[in-house]
Amino acid sequence: MKDIISFIKKNKIGNYKQNVSLSNYTTYKVGGIARIIVYPKDVKKLVLLLNKLNDESVKYKVLGYGSNLVFSDKPYEGVIIKLDSFDKVKIDDTIITAGAGVSLIKLSYMALKEGLTGLEFASGIPGTVGGAVFMNAGAYKSDMGYIVSEIKVLSPDLKVITLYNKDLNYKYRDSFLRHNAGYICLEAKLVLRHGDKKLIKELMETRRQKRLLSQPLEYPSAGSVFRNPENDFAGKLIEDCGLKGYKIGGAEVSLKHANFIINTGKASANDVMNLINYVHDKVKEKTNVDLKIEQEFVNWE
Ligand SMILES: Cc1cc2nc3c(=O)[nH]c(=O)nc-3n(C[C@H](O)[C@H](O)[C@H](O)COP(=O)(O)OP(=O)(O)OC[C@H]3O[C@@H](n4cnc5c(N)ncnc54)[C@H](O)[C@@H]3O)c2cc1C
Repeated sequence: MKDIISFIKKNKIGNYKQNVSLSNYTTYKVGGIARIIVYPKDVKKLVLLLNKLNDESVKYKVLGYGSNLVFSDKPYEGVIIKLDSFDKVKIDDTIITAGAGVSLIKLSYMALKEGLTGLEFASGIPGTVGGAVFMNAGAYKSDMGYIVSEIKVLSPDLKVITLYNKDLNYKYRDSFLRHNAGYICLEAKLVLRHGDKKLIKELMETRRQKRLLSQPLEYPSAGSVFRNPENDFAGKLIEDCGLKGYKIGGAEVSLKHANFIINTGKASANDVMNLINYVHDKVKEKTNVDLKIEQEFVNWE
């Protein structure tokens, strides 16, 4: 790792941090130490860095706001890459081009300011554009798949290429990127429509109130733990199994929304993982439904 730090410095890749807790970089507020977190300045520096990491067989993980991840408690012996410098936003009539590091919530408020409709669903999703494109983040029967026309990515062989909506194979919380490791989203082009500012604002506000009432936003979490099974709701199944409020260590099935697991203060990643497994197994035992996990586990192998 010393070698990587020298490389980052020598090649002016960007700011970096050493030995910082991932609990400060994930919305669950759990996770071990990250040996290196680096913020590449631009695509050229990112490519330079990735070449080096590939040559040295050092693992890496691109991190957005860590709002869908469960890092284990052990140290991440690799490099965490943050694309905060990929923060440009260009608005041309109804087309928004946004860097992968842009906050999705901020972007939805920018769209509102411009009187653009189509991004209201994203105004309560606390991730980055890159993370949302990867996850096909969505809510209220809409998702990124409806508005992304194309994205610029770094391919596994480190070429900048364009992938179009049809290439991205968007499905419910699923995309081409989720199944093809090594593609890094650099920016996304979203196609919105002209709308009525007042109506857009009202819709965003109503949904904000709805989230405040129905989700435990006062606690660290990573949103919905399980995907909704077809024609059903994971939260309802978990609640019907009497699991609301069930606790392992500092992790608890939220009393407000059964498909959220919250960190009540001192949860470890192990507590979160054990509780997710417990809920999964209990629901399977009582209802025979095999819930699928929406959140991603990193560094558990
Ligand atoms: C309170 C709360 C509410 C939520 N509500 C919703 C909701 O309504 N709908 C919903 O869909 N989700 C929701 N989520 C989950 C989460 O916000 C989304 O999945 C979000 O899209 C994750 O974005 P992120 O930037 O935090 O990605 P991260 O969690 O940091 O990363 C997720 C995955 O994306 C990959 N990734 C990140 N950036 C890039 C990139 N530039 N290129 C390639 N891969 C990348 C990462 O490597 C990782 O595999 C919620 C979370 C919380 C905490």
